[in-house]
Order: sequence, then structure tokens, then C-alpha cells
Amino acid sequence: MTYDRVKIEELLNYPGIGRVTLHKLSKLGIEYVHELVLFNPEEIMELANIDIEKACQIIRLARRIVGRRAKALNALEYEHVMNTRKCFTTGVKSIDKLVKGGITVWDICEFAGEYGSGKTQLCHQLAVTVQLPEERGGLESRAVYIDTEGTFSPSRIRDITSRFQLNAEKALKNILVYRPINVAELEELVVEELRSILASNVKLIIIDSIIALYRAEFKGREWLARRQQRINYLIDWLKRYANLYDVAVVYTNQVLSQPVPWGIAYKVPAGGNIIAHAATHRFLLRRSQDKWVIECIDSPKIARGSSATFKITEKGLEDTK
Ligand code: ATP
Ligand code: MG
Repeated sequence: MTYDRVKIEELLNYPGIGRVTLHKLSKLGIEYVHELVLFNPEEIMELANIDIEKACQIIRLARRIVGRRAKALNALEYEHVMNTRKCFTTGVKSIDKLVKGGITVWDICEFAGEYGSGKTQLCHQLAVTVQLPEERGGLESRAVYIDTEGTFSPSRIRDITSRFQLNAEKALKNILVYRPINVAELEELVVEELRSILASNVKLIIIDSIIALYRAEFKGREWLARRQQRINYLIDWLKRYANLYDVAVVYTNQVLSQPVPWGIAYKVPAGGNIIAHAATHRFLLRRSQDKWVIECIDSPKIARGSSATFKITEKGLEDTK
């Protein structure tokens, strides 16, 4: 959904909202009414120091102004809405087939795997393919790339754009790169910075990786509950963006060895239940000699265990034949 850019001053036209309240909202960096719809009243109360009744009133008003209403669809209408969502190609036919068309807005995709399994390369490729014109399977949109591991490479973007015959400078300009150094910066970036950026033709948010900063910061069992709570908060914001701004979210995850009493240990994505439940589709990537394999481990529409192979070359991810 694209929202008209109605300034928050519009709220002054409604009884009960005065300049003091408006000032408190703009101090939070909120400029447009559609940004308010992202918040819960409790957040507005806490962040802007506004009492809860007024916060509820503000959110209600904002929803009314942008025309967002809780409305049931019958399942046929729902099917239509879900099937007509925008999606874009991964640039690899076998992966597009696995994910049933491409990466779809509103969905959250997790790509987990060991080092060298192709997670970062895939992220680079998606930051380019989302920019392709619609007739070539793209969305002619920009991407946000949150690089928590310091592995974003403009030169890889150049390699990939030349394969897709895109202008490299233009493509690089269309990728907004952030490199948060700790969880506080990551949260600030997602909650405050992205809010205003996403409305201007961003259709993909990439986080490579979702877990690295949390694992570095919250060490030891005694911090586990807090760590999970913070990850949950971040993912909750990503979901709000995905739904309100028609954005696809993609994140990478590390894997842990799951010891078993017999046989060999197998790899599971890190981050426990919070991350497991957050993603719409979860995939495991692995290297297998000179090829790479992507396997679905959880999805409401892709069979568990189904997989695709691809190769990584200087041009990015490609089909094996
Ligand atoms: P990590 O967990 O360490 O972040 P990753 O899953 O992100 O690992 P990638 O960086 O995506 O791993 O994949 C690395 C692999 O991609 C390398 O092992 C290499 O084989 C291949 N690769 C990277 N760049 C090129 C290139 N320019 N030409 C060919 N292959 C490349
Ligand atoms: Mg990587």
C-alpha cells in the first residue's frame, strides 16, 4: 500500500490534539501520519511521554486518516490478495522455482548456513535483482542492506549488475547500506531510520546477519532471555514494515551444531524459537563440492526438504546448467 504523505500537522484539525502533543511526536522524528500507524499506543506513550488514552486516540486517528481499517476478507478475496502480491526474481531459475516464483513482499525469508554457504552472495544478488525492470522479473525498487558482519562488497554489486546489464553506478545508488556496530545502533536504525526511508520505493530489507550483533553482545546463559527479547523487538518492527509498506524482508542466520545422542551432529539455525517463528520461509544453504544447495526447512507453501542447486561464480549466483 502506498500512503499519501500527510504531514502530522493534519492531526491538529481533530479535537483533543494540540501543539504540545504534536511537538512531542515530531521530537521522535515522526513527520508523516502513516509513520504513526507503525506504533503501538504503549510505545507512543513511553517514547513521547504522552498518556495512554491520548496515545490510543492518536493511533486511531492516524489509522483513520491513512484509511487503514481492520476488515475481514473472505478466503477467496484473501487468496486473491496473497496471489497478486509483488515478487521479484532471485536471478536463478532453480531457486525461483523452489520459492514458487520469487521473493515476495510481506514475506520474511531466512537463509541460514555455515561460513561459505553463499548467504552473503545471495543477499548481494537480491539487492540487484529487486532493481530489475518489472518485465525482467524485478520491482524497479531500491534495497536497504544492513551489514552487521562487514562483508558488503560494492565490487560484487558491480560484478552482478554487469551480468544483468544494469548501470553499476545507478544500482549502487539504489542500495542503502548501513553498518551498525552494536544492537543499540541496529535497533535505532530499524525503528527510527527505516521508518522514513521505506516509503520511498524500497521493496527489500536485507539483514546480513540477524544474529551476529546479539551473539556478540549478550554472552552467557544469564543474558539469553534479554537477548531473545531484543531480537523479538527487532523482528516485530521488520514485520510491521513488511505489512505496512509492502516490503520483502530477507535475513541471514548462522547455524549451530545440534548434538544428538547417536549419529552425527546436524546443523540448526541459531536464535532459537524467536527466529524460528519469525520467518515465513526458512532455508538452509550448504556447499557441496563445486555446487551449492538451498533447502527449505520450514514454509507454509514450500515442501520441507525440497531443494535447489546453484553455483557461485564471479557473476553471482547462477543455475548449475
Ligand atoms: P559467512 O557465514 O562466513 O558469512 P556466507 O554464507 O555469507 O559465509 P558467502 O560469502 O556468501 O558465504 O560465500 C562465499 C563463497 O562464495 C566463497 O566461498 C566463494 O566460493 C564464493 N565467491 C565469493 N565471491 C566470489 C567470486 N568473485 N567469484 C567466485 N566465487 C565467489
Ligand atoms: Mg556472509
